[in-house]
Amino acid sequence: MPEIYDVIVIGAGPAGMTTSLYAARSNLKVLLLEQGAPGGQMNNTAEIENYPGFASIMGPELSLKMYEPLTKFGVESVYGIVQQIKINKDYKTVVTEDKTYIAKTIVIATGAIHKRLKVPGETEYTGRGVSYCAICDGAFFRDKKLIVVGGGDSAVEEAIFLTRFASQVTIIHRRNSLRAQKIIQNHAFANPKIKFLWHTTVEEIQGDERSVNQVRVKNKQNHTLSTISCRGVFIYIGVNPHSEPFLKLGITDQNGWIKTDAQMKTNIPGIFAIGDVREKTLRQITTAVGEGAIAAQQVYLYLQKTET
Ligand code: FAD
Ligand code: NAP
Repeated sequence: MPEIYDVIVIGAGPAGMTTSLYAARSNLKVLLLEQGAPGGQMNNTAEIENYPGFASIMGPELSLKMYEPLTKFGVESVYGIVQQIKINKDYKTVVTEDKTYIAKTIVIATGAIHKRLKVPGETEYTGRGVSYCAICDGAFFRDKKLIVVGGGDSAVEEAIFLTRFASQVTIIHRRNSLRAQKIIQNHAFANPKIKFLWHTTVEEIQGDERSVNQVRVKNKQNHTLSTISCRGVFIYIGVNPHSEPFLKLGITDQNGWIKTDAQMKTNIPGIFAIGDVREKTLRQITTAVGEGAIAAQQVYLYLQKTET
């Protein structure tokens, strides 16, 4: 007879780790499935300055701090790429690439993944100058000129981080005002290594057989084309939901974000969703962990109701 978990949590970002911690502390049998390293997008974040309790902390360090207590409270943490969920009469089955697991409830915490720019050269030069992760790749560009594409929190914050290594960072944005939080904008405006190119889009990333050496850009106001020399291009133009395995369940909106109520319940009893994969307006570590705590309590109440 296979093991039956009280709850299977899919995704070990801040949302999934928090819900696992809370559920385990309620004495529930918890399985946490993750396809990579625990931490989610925090592993790709340089400095976090808005997580209460830490004036500033590197993303991978916060990931470790969130992960450490899970084993102590009995969370079973397993590698697995979840491919689908099947709903049976009494239980739910989670199917990974090589195993199936059974649970009474499921919490989906699969987060979001960076969008691609979809211009010529992006795929060809990924890993050879094109990157989506400043903390992973920034140090390769010591004293080099870099481009950052985007105008949101990620682009501006990671551009600031990249100035630790680069000789110059040019932020290319399609409008003339940033979407990033004001405090982040102010830091960038005050940084002498950061330049801005407004009303501009990247049309192509070019290079030689080894690496990137320039981008071709277009001014959206006068439609002129020009080139800018650079050694690296960091792309931060937003995120898409990591929800492909759940699309057939009918719990997503037209863009793939999972719809829930304020208690993190989807429209399927016993299936909850939390964190960035939810349809919501504020995607942050603080909101992810808050939703993790709410979902764990709702799992507990659901099990109490269905088992009495
Ligand atoms: P994620 O962190 O995305 O974690 C989801 C996890 O699910 C991942 O580990 C993924 O591998 C796993 N997963 C996905 N699909 C599957 C599957 N099929 N099977 C198994 N596992 C799966 N927020 C802040 O508050 N402060 C910041 O300074 C900050 N900086 C940021 C910088 C960048 C560059 C980015 C991109 C985001 C930043 N954010 C920041 C936002 C913050 O990282 C997210 O809001 C938060 O990580 C969301 O947590 P989550 O647990 O919902 O999802
Ligand atoms: P975002 O907020 O969606 O911003 C994406 C940026 O890229 C926008 O400026 C957008 O331009 C631009 N853009 C989108 N598509 C483009 C395209 N095809 N070509 C060129 N530019 C394009 O995404 P994000 O910055 O990655 O942030 C994702 C989430 O994580 C947000 O909720 C954010 O608040 C959160 N986050 C928080 C922090 C923090 O709290 N410190 C740090 C990082 C991320 P427009 O402005 O014109 O739309």
